[in-house]
Amino acid sequence: MHLSLYRRFRPDSFDKMVRQEHIVRILKNQIEGNSIGHAYLFTGPRGTGKTTIARIFARAVNCEHPKDGSPCGQCPTCRALQEGSLDISEIDAASNNGVAEMRDLREKVQYPPVTGRYKVYIVDEVHMLTDAAFNALLKTLEEPPAHAIFILATTEPQKIPATILSRCMRLDFKLIPEEDLEKHLRSILDEIGKPYEEEAVAAIARAGAGSDRDMLSIAEACIVYSDKLTYDAVCAVLGAADFHETAKLVSAMLTFDLETAIGCVERVLAEGKSVGVLLKDILQLLSRITVAKTCKNAEKLLSLPKELFAEVKSIAERADGRAVLRATEILIKTESELRFVSSPRISLETAILRASHPESDADSEALIVRINHLEEALKKGVPAVSAIPMSEVWHAETPAPTKETPPEDDFSFPEEEPIFEEAYFSDEPAPRSKERGEREAPAMQNIPQPQTKRHAEVPVPAPTSEPAPQTVQPISPGEMTAEVAFGKFMRALRKTPRSGVLFTMCADLLATFEGETLVLTTESDTIATALRREDHRKAMEDIFAQIGISSFEVRKQGAKPALKNAVEELKNDFGDYPIEIK
Ligand SMILES: [Zn+2]
Repeated sequence: MHLSLYRRFRPDSFDKMVRQEHIVRILKNQIEGNSIGHAYLFTGPRGTGKTTIARIFARAVNCEHPKDGSPCGQCPTCRALQEGSLDISEIDAASNNGVAEMRDLREKVQYPPVTGRYKVYIVDEVHMLTDAAFNALLKTLEEPPAHAIFILATTEPQKIPATILSRCMRLDFKLIPEEDLEKHLRSILDEIGKPYEEEAVAAIARAGAGSDRDMLSIAEACIVYSDKLTYDAVCAVLGAADFHETAKLVSAMLTFDLETAIGCVERVLAEGKSVGVLLKDILQLLSRITVAKTCKNAEKLLSLPKELFAEVKSIAERADGRAVLRATEILIKTESELRFVSSPRISLETAILRASHPESDADSEALIVRINHLEEALKKGVPAVSAIPMSEVWHAETPAPTKETPPEDDFSFPEEEPIFEEAYFSDEPAPRSKERGEREAPAMQNIPQPQTKRHAEVPVPAPTSEPAPQTVQPISPGEMTAEVAFGKFMRALRKTPRSGVLFTMCADLLATFEGETLVLTTESDTIATALRREDHRKAMEDIFAQIGISSFEVRKQGAKPALKNAVEELKNDFGDYPIEIK
């Protein structure tokens, strides 16, 4: 039977663990001091050893003569547990919603263990449990029998209810440093007698990105590729899929193709890569693009396999230098903030949205990128630029970074910005504080404002350059103003799982009522098109239905329906009122 490397070399004692010594020490001490807790929460990135340590611990607490805190593997209990026992149960919360399992667990946990002293329940991916399942689990955790130990493992501790958290001892697993991964891989390769090149091992360890499991599954694919594990083999196996997807994402971001960029993010994250790792990959590629754009001996400096370098080079040639710089700055800022946000994914998506969507920012940097983009479009077909080497263009265009650039928080989220939150998410129409208006005034004189203003900051929808006067005033059927309706919508959307992209795209919409139709306007073609896509449209429809709005429309600013139609609609909808159009 073929056993994967990861399973074949899975540590069966604490000493064989790759890192996580801070956790191992605590658990060993508890076993030796006989002060074992009833509930543990193991958190940390995937593939860092949460389940492995949970299993070792489960056997160690039952072992009759633990050796230095680890199970001895010899005593009758250890042997019984090796063959599988009712005393150690693993529940995968990701494979079902868990209510039935949690209720079942609550009942079965009362029976004493069969072989050892403790019954150990390992609940993997515990954040996937439904509220009902969490409640059932909580009842068990509140009064656990003396013989029960719960180990909850998760990659997303922020999704665990506080009531559960407060009953657990939390242990945070860390990403494994590259040199430790390398060491582990080398020892395995030596053991299975596979010759290897050092560069190959280093490349595989790097690709593992802190996860032992990921590294070993990559190694597995590389090992079967050729007799000797060579760097070329690793590049052939690895380079491809992963690199191309990131390259596609970055290329889309730099050419302002938001839809493709966000699509790539969805795909990469769905495959299990963490937000932090993806962000690092993007930044690494951006820096390679910068090198390819600026340095004559880039190929040597980057020392990438040929076809990967060709891809970097081609992105570098197509991208505007300033857009690369701007994207890098936005993403570096996001990376430094990532540790402090509750939803890293939304942060990443917002950053990519901003990088691939300069019209969402009012700062001068963004405006220059837009202008360059337009000029580029006008120039298409004219080969004049090719006479100047790309590197010189880049140098000429790159300004000294100015400290006066306005803070890039135009697209930030409500929790980071109390004023926005208040206005956006209150059921009442936002109070138009005079004081706030005055404070904002000077800033608006200096910075060219884009037409799409944040909803809450726009008292009257007054398009500055629209030739036709706004004849159709926002109408509010009953109590519901467009602002209230939209605020409700955004709040409901925020609570909807996996709505990060949609939320980000909706954040700058301008809402008005036309009859009973809530019209959402955006200045961006990309956003208008994306929101009209079936999946997004359906998601919005569902949420609007929840808040009692049956008709809505997404519109690109300027594309208003014929005035006559709108007037007719109005008359139809409000037949009881005398409507006069002047
Ligand atoms: Zn034992």
